[in-house]
Amino acid sequence: MISIIGAGPIGSYLGYLLSKNNIENTIVEEHPEIGRPEQCTGLISRNIEGIIEPSLLKKAAMNKVNGAVISCGKASFEVKTHDFKAYVFDRSKFDKAIAEKAENKGSKLLLGHSYIDHKLNPQTRQKGLKIGLNFGHKAKYLQSTLLVGADGPASKVAKNSSLYGDRKFWTGAQMILKAKEPFFDKSPVYVYLDKRYSDGFFAWVVPIDEERAKAGLASYSNTAEHLNRFLKDKFGHFLAERRSGGLIPVYNKMPLQNRQKNIFLVGDAALQVKATSGGGVVNGMLAAQGLADAISTGKFDYESRIRGIRRNLWLHSLIRKKLNAMGDARRSELIEDLCDEKIKNIMQEKGDMDFVAKFGFNVLAAKPSLLRFLLY
Ligand SMILES: Cc1cc2nc3c(=O)[nH]c(=O)nc-3n(C[C@H](O)[C@H](O)[C@H](O)COP(=O)(O)OP(=O)(O)OC[C@H]3O[C@@H](n4cnc5c(N)ncnc54)[C@H](O)[C@@H]3O)c2cc1C
Repeated sequence: MISIIGAGPIGSYLGYLLSKNNIENTIVEEHPEIGRPEQCTGLISRNIEGIIEPSLLKKAAMNKVNGAVISCGKASFEVKTHDFKAYVFDRSKFDKAIAEKAENKGSKLLLGHSYIDHKLNPQTRQKGLKIGLNFGHKAKYLQSTLLVGADGPASKVAKNSSLYGDRKFWTGAQMILKAKEPFFDKSPVYVYLDKRYSDGFFAWVVPIDEERAKAGLASYSNTAEHLNRFLKDKFGHFLAERRSGGLIPVYNKMPLQNRQKNIFLVGDAALQVKATSGGGVVNGMLAAQGLADAISTGKFDYESRIRGIRRNLWLHSLIRKKLNAMGDARRSELIEDLCDEKIKNIMQEKGDMDFVAKFGFNVLAAKPSLLRFLLY
Protein backbone atom coordinates (compact mmCIF):
# COMPACT_ATOMS: atom_id res chain seq x y z
CA MET A 1 0.00 0.00 0.00
CA ILE A 2 1.21 3.49 -0.84
CA SER A 3 0.46 6.47 1.40
CA ILE A 4 0.06 9.81 -0.35
CA ILE A 5 0.06 12.80 1.97
CA GLY A 6 -2.09 15.68 0.66
CA ALA A 7 -5.31 15.63 -1.37
CA GLY A 8 -4.43 18.71 -3.40
CA PRO A 9 -4.73 18.28 -7.18
CA ILE A 10 -1.35 16.56 -7.46
CA GLY A 11 -1.78 14.03 -4.63
CA SER A 12 -5.29 13.12 -5.82
CA TYR A 13 -4.17 12.82 -9.43
CA LEU A 14 -1.30 10.55 -8.39
CA GLY A 15 -3.77 8.42 -6.40
CA TYR A 16 -5.98 8.14 -9.47
CA LEU A 17 -3.05 7.07 -11.69
CA LEU A 18 -1.88 4.44 -9.19
CA SER A 19 -5.42 3.07 -8.76
CA LYS A 20 -5.73 2.88 -12.53
CA ASN A 21 -2.67 0.59 -12.42
CA ASN A 22 -4.25 -1.47 -9.62
CA ILE A 23 -1.81 -0.19 -7.01
CA GLU A 24 -3.49 0.17 -3.64
CA ASN A 25 -3.15 3.68 -2.21
CA THR A 26 -4.49 5.90 0.56
CA ILE A 27 -4.62 9.69 0.26
CA VAL A 28 -4.33 11.48 3.60
CA GLU A 29 -5.71 15.03 3.88
CA GLU A 30 -5.54 17.13 7.03
CA HIS A 31 -8.55 19.31 6.20
CA PRO A 32 -12.08 17.96 6.61
CA GLU A 33 -13.03 19.24 3.15
CA ILE A 34 -11.05 18.95 -0.10
CA GLY A 35 -10.05 22.26 -1.71
CA ARG A 36 -10.64 24.35 1.42
CA PRO A 37 -9.23 26.79 2.28
CA GLU A 38 -8.89 27.89 -1.35
CA GLN A 39 -5.50 29.52 -2.00
CA CYS A 40 -5.08 29.66 -5.74
CA THR A 41 -6.23 31.86 -8.65
CA GLY A 42 -7.09 28.80 -10.71
CA LEU A 43 -5.67 30.07 -14.00
CA ILE A 44 -4.67 26.89 -15.83
CA SER A 45 -3.75 26.59 -19.50
CA ARG A 46 -5.55 24.31 -21.92
CA ASN A 47 -2.66 21.87 -21.56
CA ILE A 48 -4.82 20.53 -18.73
CA GLU A 49 -7.14 19.08 -21.40
CA GLY A 50 -4.41 16.56 -22.24
CA ILE A 51 -4.40 15.43 -18.60
CA ILE A 52 -7.98 15.65 -17.31
CA GLU A 53 -11.03 15.03 -19.48
CA PRO A 54 -12.76 18.28 -20.60
CA SER A 55 -16.18 17.09 -19.34
CA LEU A 56 -14.78 17.12 -15.80
CA LEU A 57 -12.99 20.45 -16.32
CA LYS A 58 -16.28 22.00 -17.41
CA LYS A 59 -17.75 21.38 -13.95
CA ALA A 60 -15.12 23.57 -12.26
CA ALA A 61 -14.58 26.26 -14.94
CA MET A 62 -15.64 29.82 -14.05
CA ASN A 63 -14.27 31.57 -17.14
CA LYS A 64 -12.17 30.98 -20.24
CA VAL A 65 -9.57 33.55 -21.23
CA ASN A 66 -7.99 34.19 -24.60
CA GLY A 67 -5.23 36.69 -24.00
CA ALA A 68 -3.08 38.73 -21.68
CA VAL A 69 -2.30 42.38 -21.07
CA ILE A 70 1.16 42.78 -19.54
CA SER A 71 2.08 46.22 -18.26
CA CYS A 72 4.69 48.15 -16.34
CA GLY A 73 4.04 51.84 -15.73
CA LYS A 74 2.63 53.24 -18.97
CA ALA A 75 4.09 50.49 -21.18
CA SER A 76 1.63 47.78 -22.11
CA PHE A 77 1.67 44.71 -24.35
CA GLU A 78 -1.51 42.92 -25.34
CA VAL A 79 -1.93 39.61 -27.08
CA LYS A 80 -5.28 38.06 -27.95
CA THR A 81 -6.12 34.80 -29.67
CA HIS A 82 -9.27 33.69 -31.48
CA ASP A 83 -9.81 30.61 -29.38
CA PHE A 84 -9.46 30.52 -25.61
CA LYS A 85 -6.02 29.70 -24.14
CA ALA A 86 -6.70 29.05 -20.46
CA TYR A 87 -9.42 28.26 -17.93
CA VAL A 88 -10.17 30.15 -14.76
CA PHE A 89 -11.23 27.44 -12.33
CA ASP A 90 -13.01 27.39 -9.03
CA ARG A 91 -10.04 25.63 -7.42
CA SER A 92 -12.13 24.11 -4.70
CA LYS A 93 -14.42 22.42 -7.26
CA PHE A 94 -11.39 21.46 -9.36
CA ASP A 95 -9.64 19.75 -6.42
CA LYS A 96 -12.85 17.97 -5.40
CA ALA A 97 -13.41 16.66 -8.93
CA ILE A 98 -9.92 15.14 -9.05
CA ALA A 99 -10.22 13.60 -5.59
CA GLU A 100 -13.57 12.09 -6.64
CA LYS A 101 -11.93 10.69 -9.76
CA ALA A 102 -9.27 9.01 -7.57
CA GLU A 103 -11.88 7.60 -5.19
CA ASN A 104 -13.97 6.26 -8.06
CA LYS A 105 -10.93 4.37 -9.34
CA GLY A 106 -10.29 2.83 -5.90
CA SER A 107 -8.06 5.23 -3.92
CA LYS A 108 -8.95 5.44 -0.24
CA LEU A 109 -9.37 8.99 1.07
CA LEU A 110 -8.79 9.89 4.72
CA LEU A 111 -10.08 13.42 5.41
CA GLY A 112 -9.29 15.29 8.62
CA HIS A 113 -6.14 13.18 9.14
CA SER A 114 -2.77 14.92 9.58
CA TYR A 115 0.48 13.23 8.74
CA ILE A 116 2.87 13.59 11.69
CA ASP A 117 5.88 11.37 11.03
CA HIS A 118 7.03 8.02 9.71
CA LYS A 119 9.41 5.29 10.78
CA LEU A 120 10.94 2.30 9.10
CA ASN A 121 8.62 -0.48 10.23
CA PRO A 122 10.05 -1.84 13.52
CA GLN A 123 7.71 -4.84 13.89
CA THR A 124 8.14 -6.71 10.67
CA ARG A 125 11.71 -5.55 10.06
CA GLN A 126 10.70 -5.85 6.44
CA LYS A 127 11.00 -3.06 4.00
CA GLY A 128 8.10 -0.82 4.87
CA LEU A 129 7.01 2.26 6.73
CA LYS A 130 4.82 2.99 9.69
CA ILE A 131 3.09 6.31 9.01
CA GLY A 132 1.95 8.27 12.07
CA LEU A 133 -1.27 10.30 11.70
CA ASN A 134 -3.42 12.46 13.93
CA PHE A 135 -7.19 12.21 13.63
CA GLY A 136 -8.69 14.72 16.03
CA HIS A 137 -6.78 13.95 19.21
CA LYS A 138 -6.25 10.30 18.33
CA ALA A 139 -3.03 8.84 16.99
CA LYS A 140 -3.43 6.45 14.05
CA TYR A 141 -0.96 4.44 11.99
CA LEU A 142 -0.79 3.24 8.41
CA GLN A 143 1.47 0.43 7.22
CA SER A 144 2.88 1.38 3.91
CA THR A 145 5.44 0.27 1.36
CA LEU A 146 6.02 3.77 -0.02
CA LEU A 147 5.35 7.30 1.20
CA VAL A 148 4.67 10.20 -1.17
CA GLY A 149 4.74 13.80 0.02
CA ALA A 150 2.19 15.77 -2.02
CA ASP A 151 1.64 17.97 1.00
CA GLY A 152 2.35 21.37 -0.49
CA PRO A 153 5.21 23.87 -0.33
CA ALA A 154 6.04 23.52 3.38
CA SER A 155 5.98 19.71 3.09
CA LYS A 156 6.34 17.91 6.42
CA VAL A 157 7.19 14.71 4.56
CA ALA A 158 10.16 16.55 3.02
CA LYS A 159 11.17 17.91 6.43
CA ASN A 160 11.04 14.44 8.00
CA SER A 161 13.03 12.87 5.15
CA SER A 162 15.98 15.25 4.76
CA LEU A 163 14.49 16.35 1.42
CA TYR A 164 13.40 19.85 2.46
CA GLY A 165 16.60 21.55 1.29
CA ASP A 166 17.08 25.28 1.30
CA ARG A 167 13.66 26.33 -0.02
CA LYS A 168 12.44 29.85 -0.53
CA PHE A 169 8.93 31.16 -1.08
CA TRP A 170 6.92 34.03 -2.40
CA THR A 171 3.84 34.76 -0.32
CA GLY A 172 0.75 35.13 -2.47
CA ALA A 173 -2.49 36.90 -1.51
CA GLN A 174 -5.62 37.73 -3.44
CA MET A 175 -9.13 39.16 -3.10
CA ILE A 176 -12.31 38.88 -5.12
CA LEU A 177 -13.17 42.28 -6.61
CA LYS A 178 -16.83 43.05 -7.16
CA ALA A 179 -18.11 45.83 -9.41
CA LYS A 180 -21.67 47.13 -9.11
CA GLU A 181 -22.14 46.94 -12.87
CA PRO A 182 -20.32 45.21 -15.74
CA PHE A 183 -16.74 46.52 -15.71
CA PHE A 184 -14.21 43.83 -16.61
CA ASP A 185 -13.39 42.66 -20.09
CA LYS A 186 -13.53 39.00 -19.14
CA SER A 187 -11.35 37.69 -21.95
CA PRO A 188 -7.76 38.68 -21.03
CA VAL A 189 -5.80 38.34 -17.81
CA TYR A 190 -3.89 41.39 -16.60
CA VAL A 191 -0.30 41.21 -15.34
CA TYR A 192 1.36 44.18 -13.61
CA LEU A 193 5.16 44.05 -13.47
CA ASP A 194 5.66 47.33 -11.54
CA LYS A 195 8.06 46.93 -8.63
CA ARG A 196 5.83 48.98 -6.35
CA TYR A 197 3.34 46.08 -6.39
CA SER A 198 5.71 43.22 -5.68
CA ASP A 199 9.15 42.34 -4.43
CA GLY A 200 10.34 39.72 -6.91
CA PHE A 201 7.06 38.66 -8.56
CA PHE A 202 4.02 40.49 -10.05
CA ALA A 203 0.41 41.48 -9.47
CA TRP A 204 -2.53 40.08 -11.44
CA VAL A 205 -6.19 40.52 -12.22
CA VAL A 206 -7.99 37.45 -13.51
CA PRO A 207 -11.62 38.11 -14.46
CA ILE A 208 -14.31 35.63 -13.46
CA ASP A 209 -17.06 37.46 -15.33
CA GLU A 210 -17.88 41.09 -16.14
CA GLU A 211 -18.61 41.97 -12.51
CA ARG A 212 -16.03 39.89 -10.62
CA ALA A 213 -12.28 39.34 -10.80
CA LYS A 214 -9.56 37.70 -8.72
CA ALA A 215 -6.96 40.37 -7.96
CA GLY A 216 -3.76 39.47 -6.20
CA LEU A 217 -0.02 39.35 -6.11
CA ALA A 218 2.90 37.45 -4.70
CA SER A 219 6.00 38.93 -3.17
CA TYR A 220 9.16 37.96 -1.29
CA SER A 221 8.32 40.55 1.36
CA ASN A 222 5.47 42.75 2.69
CA THR A 223 2.74 41.00 0.71
CA ALA A 224 -0.16 42.62 2.58
CA GLU A 225 1.33 46.09 2.15
CA HIS A 226 1.89 45.52 -1.58
CA LEU A 227 -1.66 44.19 -2.02
CA ASN A 228 -3.21 47.17 -0.23
CA ARG A 229 -1.21 49.55 -2.42
CA PHE A 230 -2.15 47.68 -5.60
CA LEU A 231 -5.87 47.60 -4.77
CA LYS A 232 -5.90 51.24 -3.70
CA ASP A 233 -4.09 52.39 -6.88
CA LYS A 234 -6.13 50.36 -9.33
CA PHE A 235 -9.44 49.43 -7.74
CA GLY A 236 -9.94 51.86 -4.86
CA HIS A 237 -13.71 52.12 -5.37
CA PHE A 238 -14.34 48.36 -5.66
CA LEU A 239 -15.69 46.05 -3.04
CA ALA A 240 -12.89 43.58 -2.26
CA GLU A 241 -13.70 40.47 -0.27
CA ARG A 242 -12.61 36.92 0.62
CA ARG A 243 -8.90 37.41 1.14
CA SER A 244 -6.97 34.21 0.56
CA GLY A 245 -3.42 33.23 -0.13
CA GLY A 246 -0.52 30.93 0.48
CA LEU A 247 3.07 30.13 -0.25
CA ILE A 248 4.47 29.76 -3.76
CA PRO A 249 7.72 27.78 -3.69
CA VAL A 250 10.71 28.99 -5.68
CA TYR A 251 11.91 26.19 -7.95
CA ASN A 252 15.38 24.81 -7.47
CA LYS A 253 16.85 21.50 -8.52
CA MET A 254 16.98 19.31 -5.44
CA PRO A 255 16.61 15.58 -4.71
CA LEU A 256 12.98 14.43 -4.87
CA GLN A 257 13.31 10.91 -3.66
CA ASN A 258 15.00 8.90 -0.99
CA ARG A 259 14.99 5.47 -2.53
CA GLN A 260 16.45 3.68 0.46
CA LYS A 261 13.63 4.93 2.62
CA ASN A 262 11.00 4.67 -0.14
CA ILE A 263 9.98 8.31 -0.03
CA PHE A 264 9.08 10.58 -2.93
CA LEU A 265 7.96 14.21 -3.33
CA VAL A 266 5.66 15.61 -6.01
CA GLY A 267 3.85 18.88 -6.82
CA ASP A 268 4.50 21.95 -4.66
CA ALA A 269 6.20 19.69 -2.09
CA ALA A 270 8.80 19.08 -4.82
CA LEU A 271 8.88 22.80 -5.82
CA GLN A 272 7.42 21.94 -9.25
CA VAL A 273 6.11 25.45 -9.85
CA LYS A 274 6.83 27.85 -12.74
CA ALA A 275 8.81 30.82 -11.48
CA THR A 276 7.37 33.06 -14.22
CA SER A 277 3.72 32.71 -13.18
CA GLY A 278 3.57 30.74 -9.91
CA GLY A 279 1.45 28.11 -11.67
CA GLY A 280 2.06 24.60 -10.41
CA VAL A 281 -0.87 22.48 -11.51
CA VAL A 282 0.11 21.39 -15.04
CA ASN A 283 3.80 20.68 -14.34
CA GLY A 284 2.91 19.03 -11.02
CA MET A 285 0.43 16.72 -12.75
CA LEU A 286 2.95 15.82 -15.45
CA ALA A 287 5.44 15.00 -12.68
CA ALA A 288 2.75 12.84 -11.01
CA GLN A 289 2.50 10.90 -14.28
CA GLY A 290 6.29 10.34 -14.15
CA LEU A 291 6.10 9.21 -10.54
CA ALA A 292 3.15 6.87 -11.17
CA ASP A 293 5.08 5.27 -14.06
CA ALA A 294 8.26 5.00 -11.97
CA ILE A 295 6.31 3.19 -9.24
CA SER A 296 4.13 1.05 -11.53
CA THR A 297 7.09 -0.29 -13.50
CA GLY A 298 9.00 -1.02 -10.28
CA LYS A 299 11.99 0.93 -11.63
CA PHE A 300 11.59 3.88 -9.24
CA ASP A 301 13.43 6.04 -11.77
CA TYR A 302 11.27 9.07 -10.99
CA GLU A 303 13.93 11.76 -11.32
CA SER A 304 15.10 10.61 -14.73
CA ARG A 305 11.49 10.37 -15.94
CA ILE A 306 10.86 14.02 -15.13
CA ARG A 307 14.07 15.45 -16.59
CA GLY A 308 12.09 17.36 -19.24
CA ILE A 309 9.84 18.93 -16.61
CA ARG A 310 12.87 20.01 -14.59
CA ARG A 311 14.47 21.55 -17.68
CA ASN A 312 11.27 23.46 -18.34
CA LEU A 313 11.06 24.70 -14.73
CA TRP A 314 14.71 25.75 -14.89
CA LEU A 315 13.95 27.85 -18.00
CA HIS A 316 11.08 29.58 -16.16
CA SER A 317 13.49 30.29 -13.27
CA LEU A 318 16.04 31.80 -15.62
CA ILE A 319 13.43 34.19 -17.05
CA ARG A 320 12.30 35.11 -13.53
CA LYS A 321 15.91 35.88 -12.51
CA LYS A 322 16.40 38.10 -15.56
CA LEU A 323 13.11 39.95 -14.92
CA ASN A 324 13.92 40.43 -11.26
CA ALA A 325 17.30 41.94 -12.13
CA MET A 326 15.56 44.67 -14.18
CA GLY A 327 14.20 47.92 -12.86
CA ASP A 328 10.84 49.32 -14.02
CA ALA A 329 12.44 51.36 -16.82
CA ARG A 330 14.10 48.26 -18.27
CA ARG A 331 10.89 46.20 -17.94
CA SER A 332 8.96 48.95 -19.75
CA GLU A 333 11.57 48.91 -22.51
CA LEU A 334 11.13 45.13 -22.82
CA ILE A 335 7.34 45.50 -23.01
CA GLU A 336 7.65 48.18 -25.70
CA ASP A 337 9.97 45.93 -27.68
CA LEU A 338 7.43 43.11 -27.51
CA CYS A 339 4.79 45.35 -29.13
CA ASP A 340 5.68 44.15 -32.58
CA GLU A 341 3.33 42.42 -35.04
CA LYS A 342 5.82 39.58 -35.67
CA ILE A 343 6.03 38.83 -31.95
CA LYS A 344 2.27 39.03 -31.50
CA ASN A 345 1.74 36.59 -34.37
CA ILE A 346 4.17 34.08 -32.81
CA MET A 347 2.49 34.43 -29.42
CA GLN A 348 -0.94 33.98 -30.96
CA GLU A 349 0.12 30.91 -32.86
CA LYS A 350 2.53 29.21 -30.46
CA GLY A 351 2.30 31.02 -27.10
CA ASP A 352 2.14 28.56 -24.20
CA MET A 353 2.22 29.71 -20.58
CA ASP A 354 3.55 26.33 -19.41
CA PHE A 355 6.29 25.63 -21.94
CA VAL A 356 8.36 28.68 -22.86
CA ALA A 357 10.62 26.69 -25.17
CA LYS A 358 7.66 26.14 -27.55
CA PHE A 359 7.73 29.79 -28.61
CA GLY A 360 10.69 31.51 -26.89
CA PHE A 361 13.25 30.60 -29.55
CA ASN A 362 10.91 31.73 -32.35
CA VAL A 363 10.47 35.07 -30.59
CA LEU A 364 14.25 35.52 -30.30
CA ALA A 365 14.76 34.47 -33.91
CA ALA A 366 12.12 36.97 -35.07
CA LYS A 367 13.66 39.80 -33.06
CA PRO A 368 17.27 39.02 -32.05
CA SER A 369 17.61 42.43 -30.34
CA LEU A 370 15.51 40.93 -27.50
CA LEU A 371 18.54 38.82 -26.59
CA ARG A 372 20.00 41.86 -24.84
CA PHE A 373 17.40 41.38 -22.09
CA LEU A 374 18.59 37.82 -21.49
CA LEU A 375 22.24 38.87 -21.41
CA TYR A 376 21.39 41.64 -18.95
C1 LIG B 1 -2.06 32.91 -4.30
C2 LIG B 1 -1.75 31.73 -5.18
C3 LIG B 1 -2.22 31.73 -6.49
C4 LIG B 1 -1.93 30.64 -7.33
N1 LIG B 1 -2.43 30.65 -8.60
C5 LIG B 1 -2.20 29.59 -9.42
C6 LIG B 1 -2.77 29.56 -10.72
O1 LIG B 1 -3.48 30.47 -11.13
N2 LIG B 1 -2.52 28.47 -11.50
C7 LIG B 1 -1.74 27.42 -11.07
O2 LIG B 1 -1.51 26.46 -11.83
N3 LIG B 1 -1.21 27.43 -9.83
C8 LIG B 1 -1.42 28.48 -9.00
N4 LIG B 1 -0.91 28.48 -7.73
C9 LIG B 1 -0.09 27.33 -7.31
C10 LIG B 1 -0.99 26.14 -7.04
O3 LIG B 1 -1.92 26.47 -6.05
C11 LIG B 1 -0.13 24.95 -6.59
O4 LIG B 1 0.93 24.76 -7.50
C12 LIG B 1 -0.97 23.67 -6.52
O5 LIG B 1 -2.01 23.81 -5.60
C13 LIG B 1 -0.07 22.51 -6.11
O6 LIG B 1 -0.84 21.40 -5.79
P1 LIG B 1 -0.32 20.32 -4.73
O7 LIG B 1 -1.34 19.25 -4.73
O8 LIG B 1 1.10 20.00 -4.99
O9 LIG B 1 -0.30 21.11 -3.34
P2 LIG B 1 -1.50 21.78 -2.55
O10 LIG B 1 -2.56 22.25 -3.46
O11 LIG B 1 -0.84 22.75 -1.63
O12 LIG B 1 -2.10 20.58 -1.70
C14 LIG B 1 -1.42 20.03 -0.60
C15 LIG B 1 -2.44 19.37 0.30
O13 LIG B 1 -1.74 18.72 1.36
C16 LIG B 1 -2.46 18.92 2.56
N5 LIG B 1 -1.51 18.76 3.67
C17 LIG B 1 -0.46 19.56 3.99
N6 LIG B 1 0.18 19.08 5.08
C18 LIG B 1 -0.47 17.94 5.44
C19 LIG B 1 -0.28 16.98 6.49
N7 LIG B 1 0.72 17.10 7.39
N8 LIG B 1 -1.14 15.95 6.58
C20 LIG B 1 -2.15 15.80 5.68
N9 LIG B 1 -2.39 16.68 4.67
C21 LIG B 1 -1.54 17.73 4.55
C22 LIG B 1 -3.01 20.34 2.43
O14 LIG B 1 -4.12 20.54 3.28
C23 LIG B 1 -3.39 20.37 0.95
O15 LIG B 1 -4.71 19.96 0.73
C24 LIG B 1 -1.16 29.54 -6.85
C25 LIG B 1 -0.70 29.55 -5.53
C26 LIG B 1 -0.99 30.63 -4.71
C27 LIG B 1 -0.49 30.60 -3.29
